[in-house]
Amino acid sequence: MPTAVIERLAGELRGALGDEQVIDDRARLRTYECDGLAQYRVVPALVVLPRTAQECARVVRACVAARVPFVARGSGTGLSGGALPHPDGVLIVTSRLRTIREVLPADERAVVEPGVINLAVTRAATPYGYYYAPDPSSQQICSIGGNVAENSGGAHCLKYGFTTNHVLGLQIVTPDGDLVRLGGAAPDSPGYDLVGAFVGSEGTLGIATEVTVRLVRLPESVRTLLAAFATTDAAGAATSAIIAAGVVPAAVEMMDALAIEAAEAAVRCGYPAGAGAVLIVELDGPAAEVEAQFAEVERLCRANAAFEIRIAADDAERALFWKGRKSAFAAVGRISPDYIVQDGVIPRTALPEVLRRIGELAAERGIRVANVFHAGDGNLHPLVLFDDAIDGQAERAEELSGAILDLCVGYGGSITGEHGVGMDKAKYLPRMYTDDDLDTMQLLRCAFDPRSLANPGKIFPTPRLCGEVPGRHKGAHPLQEAGLAEVF
Ligand SMILES: Cc1cc2nc3c(=O)[nH]c(=O)nc-3n(C[C@H](O)[C@H](O)[C@H](O)COP(=O)(O)OP(=O)(O)OC[C@H]3O[C@@H](n4cnc5c(N)ncnc54)[C@H](O)[C@@H]3O)c2cc1C
Repeated sequence: MPTAVIERLAGELRGALGDEQVIDDRARLRTYECDGLAQYRVVPALVVLPRTAQECARVVRACVAARVPFVARGSGTGLSGGALPHPDGVLIVTSRLRTIREVLPADERAVVEPGVINLAVTRAATPYGYYYAPDPSSQQICSIGGNVAENSGGAHCLKYGFTTNHVLGLQIVTPDGDLVRLGGAAPDSPGYDLVGAFVGSEGTLGIATEVTVRLVRLPESVRTLLAAFATTDAAGAATSAIIAAGVVPAAVEMMDALAIEAAEAAVRCGYPAGAGAVLIVELDGPAAEVEAQFAEVERLCRANAAFEIRIAADDAERALFWKGRKSAFAAVGRISPDYIVQDGVIPRTALPEVLRRIGELAAERGIRVANVFHAGDGNLHPLVLFDDAIDGQAERAEELSGAILDLCVGYGGSITGEHGVGMDKAKYLPRMYTDDDLDTMQLLRCAFDPRSLANPGKIFPTPRLCGEVPGRHKGAHPLQEAGLAEVF
């Protein structure tokens, strides 16, 4: 993209939005060069921070007129490179669209701008006895717009469903620059489910500028237990037994021995010594129901060889159980200089078998894998540990990471449970879908964005533009070849 085009665009947007809203000096642009997946870095040509939906539409229209690609960014916590900037494009950051417009407890919904932080919705709803259920571990920093784009999950999505189950309506800026509404306050709208199509579209179908979310009543009672098992097999069997008994806990989370070792080193959570795996099981709902089901969960854990069960006596102990789990990703830095956070899904009943296979694949390559994950959903997060300073380890770790995803697909699962495809996993998409599947998805994308200006290069394995002949890209990523992106 000629610099003159970007300079003209910057001037036009400064005139329309004001100086403060437009960033074009290189030092400040670098602040936005990556999301949570920091091994990919691209400095955007321009960053714009609109304050209203109308300003956001204005920016998109200017990009369309200049044929400049644009990428939406919320808080930049994504783990698949979804908000990675385009080197010739505009990064549209929603962090100044941060108003909670309405909290309507009687209607069990709230209307928020996309830059609102996930936890802020719950904080606003709690005084009315409600909360926002999807709870990614990043909920203190990630934005609702990012959650919508990634269809984010969290520990408590087992019972309550993912983001897609909590979005009633959207206002979006289409890739043409029009402001339109999809869905609405009512639980269902006639016609195609465009809200469903938009949720999880990773910024490729437009930019969400307002989100109507469902609020859930705060439960009367919450009870949490920590069960220790000798093996992940036993913990996996206990998970299946709980669900098979008709109990749907709010959360069932598992950590294996290596993940426990890391969490202990980082936050001294005091989990039972000698555990090969721990489960955190949380039930919530009406007190009488929770009491009855909690006794059943305890019985099933013991029946599946739990050697120690701790029941949280109060909120402080409950927080301590969760502290180990919530710190686990970062804690892995205590036991390994480098690691890849993988995200795949398998049918829950296959947990013991798949965990065993992951162990074998890791051993064959001389690589360690720590497992910490949403066991109830079968959503694995294998943390592939390596040391970049040791020759060849990074490559072996990357190859193992791919082999784990193949395993998930082989068991009828998915290459991502909640972190999205973004840039990082585009290459794995053909392992799940045929060329025909991918072309059909492209038809939907092109219906929204015929010019391929909205977050191009993400999700799909090649930059297949509308009308382009399908074909796989081989070798290094074009951004790497052009010296514009680094992988390290
Ligand atoms: C420590 C840590 C823990 C995490 N735990 C979880 C977890 O438990 N569950 C989970 O699901 N994820 C988790 N994540 C990943 C991440 O937090 C989520 O994907 C989150 O939804 C991203 O939100 P964001 O505002 O940071 O979005 P960004 O990273 O800024 O963007 C993510 C994607 O959304 C698009 N986008 C952003 N805003 C909009 C908008 N308004 N309209 C259209 N598209 C938009 C971007 O283009 C990009 O493709 C974790 C990340 C970290 C760092």
